Amino acid sequence: MTTTLGPLAPPSTRPQTARPGPVPDGAGVEVYETVAGYAAALDRFRDAGLTVGVVPTMGALHDGHCSLIQRAAHECDVVAVSIFVNPTQFGDPADLAAYPRTWQSDLASVEAAGGRVVFSPSVAEMYPEPPGDPGSGASVPELSGRWEGASRPGHFDGVATVVVKLLTAAGPCRAYFGEKDFQQLAVVRRVVRDHSLPAEIIGCDTVRAEDGLALSSRNVRLSPDQRRAALVLSRALRTGAALVAAGETRGPIVESAMARVVADEPLVDLDYAAAVDADDLEPAPSCDGRRPVRLIIAATVGGVRLIDNLDPLGAPRAPGRLRPAEPVELSFT
Ligand code: AMP
Repeated sequence: MTTTLGPLAPPSTRPQTARPGPVPDGAGVEVYETVAGYAAALDRFRDAGLTVGVVPTMGALHDGHCSLIQRAAHECDVVAVSIFVNPTQFGDPADLAAYPRTWQSDLASVEAAGGRVVFSPSVAEMYPEPPGDPGSGASVPELSGRWEGASRPGHFDGVATVVVKLLTAAGPCRAYFGEKDFQQLAVVRRVVRDHSLPAEIIGCDTVRAEDGLALSSRNVRLSPDQRRAALVLSRALRTGAALVAAGETRGPIVESAMARVVADEPLVDLDYAAAVDADDLEPAPSCDGRRPVRLIIAATVGGVRLIDNLDPLGAPRAPGRLRPAEPVELSFT
């Protein structure tokens, strides 16, 4: 089924917008709800000689998602954005139920960022097997055991499975994913390679609020006090990166410095703060620059799980991004 924006009536199964803001009239975004319709539409674009970029999302779009769409629009002729809150990657039903849904404003955001197609399937469309039948899912055990995978069992199986389904439906394309979900990006690269999917995976920079908080659809669930407290994640990453910039090479020392920063914030429960190998996500014993390293962090703030990461050895950053060299309090013990 294809719908063109304007008098678009969201299906009854789709939650109504939670964010005010009109959907522009006469917009040219095409909405597909079936795999077959979506696949055929992207085939038609390719048959016409156009390149396709895809941006998989779970909706509740913010400037981070829009940066992916904008980059895709810059690099591809046609951009398709999938909006699908994938139930198989949520372990906690309450988290799934609380996930924000902002359909109307999402459509406006896709259009404003340069997207032309929206794929918005139902759960039954994506998972047609009968209830209780697990289907033949995808899995990347090598990259899924630690960090987010340890705290959210089954999460990356759900991610790997839906990415295989979404990219199979999309066909040959460039697919844009955020480095914000660093472990997810590694899982995606691996599952695409293992399944020989015809997609080139493009990792995109994390977009942050002015004060450094990484944008996330979950941020809307934070109270003002919790949002202020959540800044400790990016502060801890900066502290770790500043230690590395100052010559500290021992991964565990960097990790404990980050953990100490978080410990000072009573509203925040740290899950992990780690220095990891950027390729295999194993703990990095050394940050001496011989292997690519990533600082990763996850914490819960008022019941909301937040994650962030930073390249401590990264090149000088553009304004608005976190600079490891920014002055922070250093401690080498
Ligand atoms: P989600 O809707 O949370 O599944 O995210 C969809 C895509 O947007 C994923 O590839 C995310 O990594 C990416 N993304 C989410 N937040 C940001 C951000 N702050 N900056 C850049 N990309 C992001």
